[in-house]
Amino acid sequence: MKGVEKIVRIRGLHKWFGPLHVLKGIDLEVAPGEKLVIIGPSGSGKSTLIRCVNRLEDFQKGEVVVDGLNVKEDRNLPKVRREVGMVFQQFNLFPHMTVLENVTLAPTKVRGLRREEAERRALELLERVGIRDQAHKYPAQLSGGQQQRVAIARALAMEPKLMLFDEPTSALDPEMVGEVLDVMRDLARGGMTMIVVTHEMGFAREVADRVIFMDQGQIVEEAPPEVIFKSPKEERTRAFLQRVL
Ligand code: ADP
Ligand code: MG
Repeated sequence: MKGVEKIVRIRGLHKWFGPLHVLKGIDLEVAPGEKLVIIGPSGSGKSTLIRCVNRLEDFQKGEVVVDGLNVKEDRNLPKVRREVGMVFQQFNLFPHMTVLENVTLAPTKVRGLRREEAERRALELLERVGIRDQAHKYPAQLSGGQQQRVAIARALAMEPKLMLFDEPTSALDPEMVGEVLDVMRDLARGGMTMIVVTHEMGFAREVADRVIFMDQGQIVEEAPPEVIFKSPKEERTRAFLQRVL
């Protein structure tokens, strides 16, 4: 794929938490529009890896370039963070703000949008994730699934080029997982570039262009979903899939 500009380029990435070596030489590229799903056991470094993409976690060695911007350079960080939306397991909404205020905050403060314009677009996004009627409520008045959909709308309000999802359905009651995955599927269909850490193998199978299996800080195997789920090459991948499928 020479000549195609990658949206994410990671080379030789190493990360230590004190003495703990948690990323051990990650090489990874993501093309525009690609949907990458990352799977792997707890503690394998999945969250740390995606948090290095927008440098929510700093790292000691290697290179991370997002849309041509080296995230190690502090002056690039504001631009990188504007271009990369992130959705966490714990929704991380601002509890003292309404849904609408949560979604308009960054566009007005960071991008300088006028309030009316920001609200108009926020309502469109809330419509898209199916909760326009909740715009004037506070997060605590919403179900987990609704809160996570607000979090997705909030991220989209910055018109990101890339969306990172870190186990977005893991904190949800089972009956709410589907509504969040539906929104993510819809986003995928719309062409968004996505990196998704998830244990939802059905979603991975259906949406991923490529699945990465991580273990102990390394990428053990990467393949299209139909390959990795049917005939994984590595024993570690097979053992993991046997446990979760
Ligand atoms: P995963 O998301 O795959 O469960 P993480 O990236 O959260 O894995 O964690 C990878 C390793 O780094 C684990 O051993 C975890 O305990 C450790 N770790 C994660 N965050 C921190 C931190 N802030 N300080 C120290 N160790 C951490
Ligand atoms: Mg994690």
